[in-house]
Amino acid sequence: MIHQRVDEAIGNTPMIRLRKASEITGCTILGKAEFMNPGQSVKDRAALFIIRDAERRGLLRPGGVIVEGTAGNTGIGLALVGNALGYRTVIVIPDTQTQEKKDMLRLCGAELIEVPAVPYANPNNYVKVSGRLAERLAASEPNGAIWANQFDNVANRQGHVETTGPEIWDQTGGKVDGFICAVGTGGTLAGVGMALKERNPRVKIGLADPMGAALYNYYTAGELKAEGSSITEGIGQGRITKNLEGFAPDAAFRISDEEALPIIFDLLENEGLCLGGSSGINVAGAIRLAKDMGPGHTIVTVLCDYGTRYQSKLFNPAFLRSKNLPVPAWLERTSTLDP
Ligand code: PMP
Repeated sequence: MIHQRVDEAIGNTPMIRLRKASEITGCTILGKAEFMNPGQSVKDRAALFIIRDAERRGLLRPGGVIVEGTAGNTGIGLALVGNALGYRTVIVIPDTQTQEKKDMLRLCGAELIEVPAVPYANPNNYVKVSGRLAERLAASEPNGAIWANQFDNVANRQGHVETTGPEIWDQTGGKVDGFICAVGTGGTLAGVGMALKERNPRVKIGLADPMGAALYNYYTAGELKAEGSSITEGIGQGRITKNLEGFAPDAAFRISDEEALPIIFDLLENEGLCLGGSSGINVAGAIRLAKDMGPGHTIVTVLCDYGTRYQSKLFNPAFLRSKNLPVPAWLERTSTLDP
């Protein structure tokens, strides 16, 4: 099939059986390979649906500006689709995110504004900065500006209701017993969850929550309370976003970096899958859900983005050591062969 534009190449990603996760649980654990989207992450889908929704509402006109606060991946998706459709992008990013994502955003032509990472309650939080900037540009830009607002814009979730969820249903032939992933905006979890529940209400939906996020406590004890921290990026939510409203998972698991990182290293070393940290939280969650449900089930999770995006952190021995995290032997191996 020949696509006319890059946005048509978003979605319809392959599903890959995760060998070791399947073997140790006696289940079939499948990873939806979202790192194969044009922007190398699951967030291309949200970017496309947010842009299309704004166009339909008449908010986004040719030559207009898209403003967003993002950990990086949504910004990359917005910039690529924006380039193809004739929109400029202005991206506000917390300075703690990897250099690789910032470099990629600049490479894509996005105008990048780095701000100090502060909690959501602070008016200088990157999400709030982006909202105010969008308002200002909407008044001054000749072709207008929109705020993508991925956390509270349910066009994000709708992208997963209409694409990711149905793809998972079709690819498994409806033989899916569980789905689990982490939450950044909640678009993926709630959107896929709603789509699968609509087709079979008995499908179990699980949340894999990193340390430092508040949703595990919220869904298990009714309290938005965070503990600890994580080096993973793009996930870990402290509030109920609009994308999460009206949806609750059937099960929730709290996953530490110590549990998730060895899985990421192992998937790269033994299964050839080069993934970012949130995929490790997701696969660890899928293993936990599989153990809870028992052997013989099919459980799907999301392989969110490509690992090279985190080379300076996840795959950097010095960084890992500074955080007291395990360093895989192969990462430090040098050749002893005589050339
Ligand atoms: N993984 C990564 C690497 C991400 O960038 C994001 C989005 N910020 C997510 C997972 C979470 O996806 P969602 O926003 O749909 O909850």
